[in-house]
Amino acid sequence: MSGRELPLEGCISARETALVDGLKRWVAIPSISTDPARTADVIASAEFLHDYAISCGLSRAEIWETEGHPAVFAERTEDPALPTVLVYGHHDVQPVDPLEEWEAAPFQALERDGKLLGRGTADDKGHILMHLEAIRGILDARGRLPVNIKLIAEGEEEDGSEHFEELVVRHRDRLAADVVVISDTGMLAEDLPGLTVGLRGMAYWEVTVTTSSTDLHSGVYGGAVLNPIAVLAELLAGLHDGMGHITVPGFYDRVRELTSDERAELAAVPFDESGFLRDVGATAGGEGGYSVMERRTIRPTLELCGIWGGYQGPGAKTVIPARASAKLSSRLVPDQLADDITRLVGEHLRRAAPPGAEVDFSLIHDGRWVLTPSRHPAVDAAAAALTKVWGRETVFIREGGSIPPVATLADQLGAPCVLLGVGLPDDRIHAPNERVVLNQLFKGMQAVGLLWDRYAELGRSGLRG
Ligand SMILES: [Zn+2]
Repeated sequence: MSGRELPLEGCISARETALVDGLKRWVAIPSISTDPARTADVIASAEFLHDYAISCGLSRAEIWETEGHPAVFAERTEDPALPTVLVYGHHDVQPVDPLEEWEAAPFQALERDGKLLGRGTADDKGHILMHLEAIRGILDARGRLPVNIKLIAEGEEEDGSEHFEELVVRHRDRLAADVVVISDTGMLAEDLPGLTVGLRGMAYWEVTVTTSSTDLHSGVYGGAVLNPIAVLAELLAGLHDGMGHITVPGFYDRVRELTSDERAELAAVPFDESGFLRDVGATAGGEGGYSVMERRTIRPTLELCGIWGGYQGPGAKTVIPARASAKLSSRLVPDQLADDITRLVGEHLRRAAPPGAEVDFSLIHDGRWVLTPSRHPAVDAAAAALTKVWGRETVFIREGGSIPPVATLADQLGAPCVLLGVGLPDDRIHAPNERVVLNQLFKGMQAVGLLWDRYAELGRSGLRG
């Protein structure tokens, strides 16, 4: 660019209105990946993003087909010698039911009190436009970016990312980067900048106990045969002891215990334990010896997610069912392996069942945990950028949830992953009345503007850590 550079901050804040307008238009496309009736909308959403990326100054954009919904890839290469950043987000959204609980139509984004209400505003369309409009602002100020940027926006994150790994493997060379920035997470509070450094993994199973070849009359057979509901209930109840510890032998063997320093660091993160429970009308439960924050982030779980068996209709039906089933899930922490835990839980349930009860145990899906070292230069630079914009020291947070694509990107690309998101705990993602606090997106734009400069200063070798 000839002549004087314009101030970066001003050029980025000049993009705020465009971000809100763009987000309203994009939210109007109901890209619900789990709903087959919305397939055309997911495609339309990909096309919208493709065109938007080009309009913001990315030099190339492509729609990448998968066996499921399409992803969007876009890039701008300034100079191969500069660091390359890959930004990850997703352009699909969750379903909107129950519709009657929405205060406004979920796909007609409503701007109110500095917030934008609508499905996908926070998760995750707002985050993607935060990046794209920041890029446009930087280009307005300087005519070039300080780093090379690539964007990958998945189209089926809300549907289990079933084809994402295959997509990443197929396009590994195109996606290669020095650092991956994932923007699909949040902070603990509006005035407290936070950076997620850990996500739990998960494994989800179904178990069925069968005790006879057919349903049995409860008068003729009752009292004289094994009952699958009773067997299943006993098996499930026995998975935890009185202290809330998981009883499956070997379950904790690979759990990496935190040092007392790490526990103190986690305890220092402002977290309103009673408010957290009160907001949802819940009572504390779980593993003794750990805080609520620890139980939901650094400790593994074995939760019961569903149970059924026998007659469920109105009135009475006097039968002993042949089988009963349940859904179980574990949240896994470093260094637990989903395969190991699946084998251990399955073996334990089979061993604990009485003779004559057949236990069928199967994995439905799993995903690996993620841990970014909080002392990595790529993470430290992100924390510094947030601290500068928010005017307060950034805290490192661990999330209890799982984002399987993060592990895929980390494993396949071998680059550090930085989880930079500006969502807030009460954004109600996946629920009625999802919204985003616009100021979070605006500050996020400034933060990524600073971050790309810091990554440029670090250079390719400095970013590798
Ligand atoms: Zn998301």
